[in-house]
Amino acid sequence: SEEMLIKSEKLAVVGQLSAGVVHEIRNPLTSLIGFLNLIRHGKEMNKEVLDVMTSELHRIELILSELLILAKPQEISYKKINIHKLLKDVLTLIDIQATQNNVKIHMQVEEKIPHIDCDENQLKQVFINLLKNAIEAMSFGGNINIVVKMMEDEKVIISIQDDGCGMDEEEVCKLGEPFFSRKEKGTGLGFMLSEKMIHNHKGSIQIKSVKNEGTQVNVILPLTQDQHI
Ligand code: ADP
Ligand code: MG
Repeated sequence: SEEMLIKSEKLAVVGQLSAGVVHEIRNPLTSLIGFLNLIRHGKEMNKEVLDVMTSELHRIELILSELLILAKPQEISYKKINIHKLLKDVLTLIDIQATQNNVKIHMQVEEKIPHIDCDENQLKQVFINLLKNAIEAMSFGGNINIVVKMMEDEKVIISIQDDGCGMDEEEVCKLGEPFFSRKEKGTGLGFMLSEKMIHNHKGSIQIKSVKNEGTQVNVILPLTQDQHI
């Protein structure tokens, strides 16, 4: 029956996701076991070794906490917020990483953007994830432009444009699949998580990217979460 099919499809998704989780967590675990064996056989426990082991453990922690957010239906509490202020707060949080990577962030917000109904913490997390990706795409530094504008139909568009490594069509397709990452230390969960949170807000994300030129990510959010509109 149709219900059975849905159930088996769900199981297939769970299976795929579990296989990914196992794979992603096994790598840092294998490296930790390797280090412990070396230490058992007399390798010196210096700062460098401890740093590597700690960073592998942090990696496991990050994967698990991102997965938990994906797995648990998040409780959303909508409030009217000023998107300009929210973005400024996010920029304060991400400033150190941007400076360290020689990235300059410019922001242009249209006047009189109304407050929008949203869960402040979730939206902050989304913009942190997207800005981190933009920074990480520019290994030799560069510029990020954030533009906030009103659209027709009571929607706001927040576009984040970088002049980083860009993505080809295949990469854009894979973006948002769990564990798709081109980074040595990536989890491949950040974008998926962001997309989920934007969908919670009845919004959408668009990607425009050109390999070796840059990427533009557009987040489109409705002004209100009112069911009647
Ligand atoms: P992670 O950042 O942990 O790799 P994400 O889900 O955030 O995971 O992103 C997945 C992959 O998509 C990245 O590894 C990168 O290859 C690609 N990507 C995402 N954002 C950008 C961007 N702004 N420019 C270029 N590539 C990007
Ligand atoms: Mg990321």
